[in-house]
Amino acid sequence: MGMADEKRTKLLIIGSGPAGYTAAVYAARAMLEPVLVQGVQPGGQLTITTEVENWIGEEMIMGPDLMLKMEAHARAMGTEILFEHIARLDLSERPFRAYGDGGAVYLADAVILATGAQARWLGLPSEEVFKGFGVSACATCDGFFYRGKEVAVIGGGNTAVEEALYLTRHAEKVTLVHRRDSLRAEKILQQRLFANPKVEVIWDHVVDEVLGQTDPKGVTGLRLKHAATGATRELAAHGVFVAIGHAPASELVRDQLETHHGGYVTVQPGSTRTSIPGVFAAGDVTDHVYRQAVTSAGMGCMAALDAEKFLAEQEAADVGTPRAAPRAAE
Ligand code: FAD
Ligand code: NAP
Repeated sequence: MGMADEKRTKLLIIGSGPAGYTAAVYAARAMLEPVLVQGVQPGGQLTITTEVENWIGEEMIMGPDLMLKMEAHARAMGTEILFEHIARLDLSERPFRAYGDGGAVYLADAVILATGAQARWLGLPSEEVFKGFGVSACATCDGFFYRGKEVAVIGGGNTAVEEALYLTRHAEKVTLVHRRDSLRAEKILQQRLFANPKVEVIWDHVVDEVLGQTDPKGVTGLRLKHAATGATRELAAHGVFVAIGHAPASELVRDQLETHHGGYVTVQPGSTRTSIPGVFAAGDVTDHVYRQAVTSAGMGCMAALDAEKFLAEQEAADVGTPRAAPRAAE
């Protein structure tokens, strides 16, 4: 790797959801000249939803619009924003090294991890077979294909209920399948769901198998299993939307940083400091509890302030040290 492919920055922000962009606004205003890499989903999870009704200050804003506004804000404050996916991150020494997909290497004195979360899947072989052929994790992306058809949504959280409601715009019938007898979604969403004549809820059932045909390849239904008795039944469906939650996108750091609850990056309470000084985490990648746009943005702000403090301390420690000398340990 030649020097030409190396890019040096004080602060590298990985991720372009609410956490990353908010960190960028604060860091840019602190004159840290941050570089933000967007990853394969510029704007993050809110770009795959429609109406957002709990971003404070906006009674309703479309998710993709909100994220474009955040991007423009971060850019206007002086953030360098790159369409780049980080394939590998080396946190073993400073400057930290992030290896981009296209061959670029980013050398950073501090890193803010804001890689968010990704949809979880059921883990059934039949689900894998029909992914993209009737099995989806994004109603706003694929709902359009089910005009006048029957679809099923799996899950009982906000995402499942929102996806089910969204799908009623296209599909003839939407069946929500939940493994318990009550939903964890917000009450206002539950109210809308139960009031919708196109929606039926099947309680206490899990998916046993996705049923389908090979020619043409497509889903025809689901075999469901009662969570307590194990009794099975079939449900006709052309589309299946899996909405059973999200897992943190922490693959880059799982073997380098402390994690909790199956991969969420651990931060010191009340801060965004991870187990490695100079590496900060914000948003869904560290948060298994709240997982909201506004809380992610709040943590993004904290991460930028934590990074600013860290960099200032480093600079103070470096005064009087020859430039080429290795940095003192913490
Ligand atoms: P994310 O939004 O998850 O963004 C992660 C970013 O990291 C992406 O830009 C991705 O490209 C990037 N990235 C990941 N890996 C890499 C890598 N290796 N290299 C470079 N970049 C990388 N919350 C609400 O408050 N209100 C809502 O109405 C709402 N609706 C939702 C609807 C849906 C369908 C979903 C899925 C979620 C919804 N949420 C909502 C939750 C909200 O979207 C998340 O809490 C929030 O987006 C988390 O922000 P984040 O910045 O942590 O990360
Ligand atoms: P979630 O709240 O974790 O809900 C996941 C749902 O899937 C739960 O009902 C869970 O059942 C079920 N489930 C999990 N594993 C399953 C399995 N293997 N088989 C069957 N069912 C399974 O996830 P989410 O709905 O994706 O929401 C994630 C976060 O984003 C939340 O914090 C949510 O508030 C936020 N969000 C907010 C909005 C909004 O504000 N409007 C919209 C979307 C998302 P149990 O209930 O039995 O655990």
